Amino acid sequence: MGDRRREVPGTDRVLADPRVAAAVRRLGHERVVRTVREVAQRARDGLIPPTRVVADTVAALPDSACGMRRVLNATGVLLHTNLGRAPLSAAAREALEVAAGTTDVELDLDSGERGPRGASAVAALREAVPAAEAAHVVNNGAAALALAATALAAGREIVLARGEMVEIGDGFRIPDLLTSTGARLHEVGTTNRVRLDDYRAALGPDTGFALKIHPSNFVISGFTAEVPVAELRDLDVPVVADIGSGLLRPDPALPGEPDATTTLTDGADLVIASGDKLLGGPQCGLLLGRAEIVHRLRRHPLARALRVDKLTLAALEATVRGPRPPVTESLHRTGLPERAAALADSLAAAGIPAEAVESRATVGGGGAPGVDLPSAAVALPVRFAKQLRLGIPPVMARVERHRCLLDLRALDPADDEALRRAVLDAH
Ligand SMILES: *Cc1c(COP(=O)(O)O)cnc(C)c1O
Repeated sequence: MGDRRREVPGTDRVLADPRVAAAVRRLGHERVVRTVREVAQRARDGLIPPTRVVADTVAALPDSACGMRRVLNATGVLLHTNLGRAPLSAAAREALEVAAGTTDVELDLDSGERGPRGASAVAALREAVPAAEAAHVVNNGAAALALAATALAAGREIVLARGEMVEIGDGFRIPDLLTSTGARLHEVGTTNRVRLDDYRAALGPDTGFALKIHPSNFVISGFTAEVPVAELRDLDVPVVADIGSGLLRPDPALPGEPDATTTLTDGADLVIASGDKLLGGPQCGLLLGRAEIVHRLRRHPLARALRVDKLTLAALEATVRGPRPPVTESLHRTGLPERAAALADSLAAAGIPAEAVESRATVGGGGAPGVDLPSAAVALPVRFAKQLRLGIPPVMARVERHRCLLDLRALDPADDEALRRAVLDAH
């Protein structure tokens, strides 16, 4: 007994091991020492041999101080809510790295005085959407709606169509969000049809604004009618349009999807959108429109509670000014059947029953509902779905008709090799 206790390496000796030293840099001294002591105690208690202390310590320490892990998206859903919606561009990731330190986010370097917060991100939005006189950024699309409702209609009415009372996901409903600000809803039309006269009849001295919401996660078809922004502009009240997905300009790949530029030129006074849907940036909410309105929102006390941090501003600006972000790339991706065939061939050569198949991808994440994007996938036996999810890196596949499909549209081609290795590991 006494001998074995003497054989258990001391904490300093374990810490001197290069793998443990690397863990200290990753996780901090305190965290690693705690693990070393726990493992050494197990050795002293005779539960493991003393020779295993270093290896068990290394095995017990996580790879990262952050529990969130990179996941390969093979679902064919471009904006997968559970996978964090839009993946950021390399330019946005670099901007995050800079913003993570001390930066001039709220400093005018010329004068050395305080400067307007996030001015260059706002300038980038203004340049990308000249139709907007002003822009403001908040935490997400829902925050943008809450700010607009509070500042422009608290204690008053928001006029909106019954068919546009949307539930956005996870049980959250836009009408509930709006009324939680103290605004009242004045619903017009029916589920399937609304006319300009319905809006007109609802207007009164209490009207804060007319709201147009893009039904971004469902379609109604058949005997339907809605009133476009180009007609709502004739009303004598401000028109706010929640376009949802954050396209700044039209994208020919998604002809039915509203964009900020067109919506503003059509006559909206204020456009609301998310930054992490089709814009392809970080989570944030964009408010674009008339200077007088945006200024009121920016100066409202609630704006301070919805303010974005420097990381968001940096990633947003780099997304807007930089090269096409991954979401746009995957929207316009070609060469998918060739990639699927190459991957399937390589897996089949390793004895895995893999087959290249046609597939249908979707935008997901509250954008372009009902739009199918032609895609290509590698089909595997269904058991792979779980094994791939539990691998390193984890892969999210799509299970369809009792097959595990690896849809390649949402995946960066640079990750094809990582996907191939993940399948080999899961075999
Ligand atoms: C996604 C969406 C929202 C909510 O935006 P978040 O950025 O998720 O808060 C609001 N309205 C519409 C139409 C949407 O599609």
